[in-house]
Amino acid sequence: MFDTLQDRLHEVFKNLRGKSRLTEADIDATAREIRLALLEADVNLGVVKEFIANLKSRALGADVHKALNPSQQIIKIVDEELVAILGGEARPLRFAKRPPTVIMLAGLQGSGKTTLAGKLGLWLKGQGHSPLLVAADLQRPNAVNQLQVVGERAGVHVYAPEPGNGVGDPVQVARQSILHAMSKLYDVVVVDTAGRLGIDSELMQQAADIRAAVNPTEVLFVVDAMIGQDAVNTASAFDDGVGFDGVVLTKLDGDARGGAALSIAKVIGKPIMFASNGEGLKDFDAFHPDRMASRILGMGDVLTLIEQAEKTFDAEQTAKAAEKLLGGRGEFGLDDFLQQMQAVRRMGPLSKILGMMPGMGQMKDQINNIDEREIDRLEAIIKSMTPAERANPKILDGSRRTRIAKGSGTTVTDVNSLVNRFFDARKMMQSLGGQMGGPGMPGMPG
Ligand code: GDP
Repeated sequence: MFDTLQDRLHEVFKNLRGKSRLTEADIDATAREIRLALLEADVNLGVVKEFIANLKSRALGADVHKALNPSQQIIKIVDEELVAILGGEARPLRFAKRPPTVIMLAGLQGSGKTTLAGKLGLWLKGQGHSPLLVAADLQRPNAVNQLQVVGERAGVHVYAPEPGNGVGDPVQVARQSILHAMSKLYDVVVVDTAGRLGIDSELMQQAADIRAAVNPTEVLFVVDAMIGQDAVNTASAFDDGVGFDGVVLTKLDGDARGGAALSIAKVIGKPIMFASNGEGLKDFDAFHPDRMASRILGMGDVLTLIEQAEKTFDAEQTAKAAEKLLGGRGEFGLDDFLQQMQAVRRMGPLSKILGMMPGMGQMKDQINNIDEREIDRLEAIIKSMTPAERANPKILDGSRRTRIAKGSGTTVTDVNSLVNRFFDARKMMQSLGGQMGGPGMPGMPG
């Protein structure tokens, strides 16, 4: 799911990569492309409008860290706005103060409720609870049996009316199941209710009656993410008819556009609490808006890099170094080289950091050959130089190099190699700086 959206957004980000700064026209064009990408993915129109308005005002207001280049700035804003429409913070499941906690599942037939009951049961067990699944779907032939099968697979007990008793009263079954749970010390009861192919008043009434009978701690609305904008309409009908606390998205493994699922939290104003992405009982987890956003962007690594860059780099210092690199005032000297290396080192192992940067693929070998201890040696050498030598390494003649080698406990060969690498790195960084349109990673030794 979300593949088309991902592809389109990557295209947008790629177009920004060569720019050193964004004009208002750039921002407009970018916003237009992102708008199209979201609409094409079937995101709700109102949600798209708000998304784009926020994106524009934030990009224009440069409401982002100065250490980021334009492409990174837009990625960061898009990521944060995605997190916001997905509900912001994760909303964990609430448990009743006095057990049992009652979780009622509601939704259309085929949305994945019964499967979900098993998944939730297994998940709860994994969290140290002792759940009981309740078959209150007495409408669909075989629903009780299906829940029993799922329960068995999950290793979770199922409470069901005796077979052969004909069509029972689901409200009665649900009510009795709570008493059963109390007497057998189950601490969480998951009530599977009947669904229909469409919304109808009888179904709503039954669900509302069950709700009134068992007074659930949480009512979860289960919705198939593949049904498009209908997901939003159905959610709103269920909210009016039955009311619910949170949403469970199922079938996120499907290959549909998925935008409707993205809109649901924002349109309905209810949190997405869980997500299912497969038929297996383990294909299920609590929903985290931030993780989902970075999954949609497909740029988890780049986002991590951005975060670390923000934490580590002092924006002013970076801007100054970038200015030098990009041919502005002053020359990029060994002092800057050392400073940037130290900043990069604070960000984590070099190879990992550089490996995360887009477009760095071809440098893989070089990256893998960087030895962290070597940086200590480089640091010692640079620290043995005079300020004049650091500012202008071209003055480093033979006798200066010998003195520096002695002072740093290295050899002249080491000093030569550092100086050569510095000039190489400076050259490479100048071209990279131009290409990425910003302060790339100027500290990288060549
Ligand atoms: P119910 O009518 O709401 O109880 O829905 P079911 O639990 O019977 O699910 C309907 C169908 O969807 C079944 O074939 C499930 O195996 C399938 N299903 C449920 N959840 C998922 C999911 O996350 N991914 C996929 N691919 N299929 C799912």
